[in-house]
Amino acid sequence: MVNLEKIIEDTAVKMLQLAVTELPPDVMNALKKARERETNERAKKILDTLITNAEIAKERRVPICQDTGLIIWYVKVGEDFPIKSKLYEILKNATIRATKEVPLRPNAVDPITEKNTGNNTGPHVPYINWEIVPGNELHLTVLPKGGGSEYWCRLYMIKPIEGLNGAIKCVLQTLKEAMGKPCPPLVIGVGIGGGADIALKLAKKAILRPLDDMHPNPKVAELEQRVLNLANKLGIGPMGLGGDTTCLGVKVEVAARHVATYPVGIVIQCWAARRCSVIINKDGSVRYLTHKV
Ligand code: SF4
Repeated sequence: MVNLEKIIEDTAVKMLQLAVTELPPDVMNALKKARERETNERAKKILDTLITNAEIAKERRVPICQDTGLIIWYVKVGEDFPIKSKLYEILKNATIRATKEVPLRPNAVDPITEKNTGNNTGPHVPYINWEIVPGNELHLTVLPKGGGSEYWCRLYMIKPIEGLNGAIKCVLQTLKEAMGKPCPPLVIGVGIGGGADIALKLAKKAILRPLDDMHPNPKVAELEQRVLNLANKLGIGPMGLGGDTTCLGVKVEVAARHVATYPVGIVIQCWAARRCSVIINKDGSVRYLTHKV
C-alpha cells in the first residue's frame, strides 16, 4: 500500500529544492529572448550575468538568490483525494525539512515578538491557498516569494470612473517608485476588481502563469500586452540601470467589482520568478509540470 503522506512530503521538499535552484523554462526563455532584443550594452551584460547565475544554480543545485522567500503554497485538491485534513501538516513539515535540507534561508519572523522562527514557519506561514476541485488528484504549486520584490506590491482603490486607464497608471506609478529596487526585469501580476483582498490574491496568483501563455479573454490579453509595452518604455532596465527590459511579463486577472469601488492589486515579482508545480495522483504517482525530474 502506498504511503501517500510520505510521498507528498518528500515531493514537497523536492519541489522547494527545484523551485529555489532552477528557474522554470518559460522564465529562462524570457530572459534569453530579452537578452537578444536588448539594445543597451550595460543591460545586456546584466542579463548575461542573470542567465549565467541561473545556469550555475541549476548545475550545482544551489539557490538562485540568497533570499529563498516566504513560502506560499497553492493547493488544488480533488474531492476524491484522500488525507485532505492532513495536508496542512504535511506541507508545514516539508517546509521545515526543506529549510534544513536544501537549505533555505530562514525568513519567517513573528511580527509581535520579532523573533525568527528559524524554520520558515510561523503564524499562517507557510501560507496555503486552498481550492477543492473534482477528481482524485492533488495539484501542488509552491511560490517562494522574495522580500525585495514583495516590498513593492501595492493596493490602489481608484475611482470607478478612472477605469482601466486608471489601473494602468497605478502599475506605471508603482514601477516608477520602485525603479531598480525589486531586482528587475520583473513579472507583474495585476488583480482588478473584487474587494481589496481579492484583487491582491488574484494579482499574486497571476504571477504563477507561464510567461508564454495568453489570457483566454482577448481583451485581458490585449491589456497585458499594452501594460508590458508601456512598462518596457520606462527605460528602468535590468537592475534599474537602464535598458529596454524592465518587465518580462504582465499577467492580469479580473473579478467582478462592487459598483462603487475599483480595487487594483499589484504584485511585483523579481527576475528570480521561482515556482514549482506537480500533480500527485491518489495512487501515489507524481508528475512534475514545471521541471524535468
Ligand atoms: S528581489 Fe528577488 S532577486 Fe532580488 S534579492 Fe529579493 S529574491 Fe533575490
